Amino acid sequence: MTGAAPDGRVALVTGASRGIGAHLALALLAAGWVVVGLSRSGAAPDGTEGMPCDVTDAEAVDRAVAEVVSRHGRIDLLVNNAGLIEPERPLWEADVDEWWQVLVTNVRGPFLLTRAVVPHMIAAGGGRVVNLNSGAGTRERHDLTAYCASKSALARLTGGTALAGAEHGVRAFDLAPGVVETDMTHSMDMHSGRTEWTAPEDVAALLVAMAEGELDGFSGRMVRAGADDLDELRRRSQAGLGDGDRMLRLRPWGPDDPLAG
Ligand code: NDP
Repeated sequence: MTGAAPDGRVALVTGASRGIGAHLALALLAAGWVVVGLSRSGAAPDGTEGMPCDVTDAEAVDRAVAEVVSRHGRIDLLVNNAGLIEPERPLWEADVDEWWQVLVTNVRGPFLLTRAVVPHMIAAGGGRVVNLNSGAGTRERHDLTAYCASKSALARLTGGTALAGAEHGVRAFDLAPGVVETDMTHSMDMHSGRTEWTAPEDVAALLVAMAEGELDGFSGRMVRAGADDLDELRRRSQAGLGDGDRMLRLRPWGPDDPLAG
């Protein structure tokens, strides 16, 4: 954390009622941000403002964003953290509604929030969107097909936002939080009995660095807490990244692959 007070800048964090979102909201507060947290319950950590909002409800999202702008005049940072995962089983054993709700929460939610918030950022000369992504967005699994599909789709929202936002000073990032102990990971068979977790402070340190503009070179790309070293990310952000680095791409079989490049 830099500790620098960013002059009353305003962060909107979805899913701030518990888990990673609550940690991120508190870290931004400690770094001097005004923090508004959205969740269905409306709960939010002490010192932050909680607002009830289902991120999948377009009207509710528009109302919440309008309320934040009317209260604070601006939104400098949007953290799309609210998320959902399904029970671990092959696709053909999935419950249709349960599977689809993961897509709705993890894709429609960030879409609605980004759509509502970015015009305010553009009007103010810029801003940053951080999407909580996952290693599950970068590769397939035999189970969790909704979750993997949703996080791959989310990376495309990040990329599209970064591309269209660049000329307006809007940056967008994928932040993979590693494996943090939360209600979500406690619900997952694959993590039962796990004793090693990513420290939420590590996720928060990356988020605050992004929020402060230290990692703008990673706009449109993914970083991962618990694996990435922040100083190395800062160095690479300054130096510039190569085409496709830390982005989802089809890997060609070689230079003679007609799909190469
Ligand atoms: P939790 O399940 O512990 O918390 C989810 C949060 O999202 C809660 O605050 C919940 O609040 C909110 N939420 C869920 N659905 C909605 C909705 N429709 N509208 C508004 N808020 C909603 O999740 P984690 O903290 O573990 O995960 C946070 C993010 O990080 C997710 O996007 C997840 O995919 C991602 N992630 C997490 C990992 C981990 O190790 N924990 C690993 C990789 C990625 P409420 O119930 O009050 O609405």
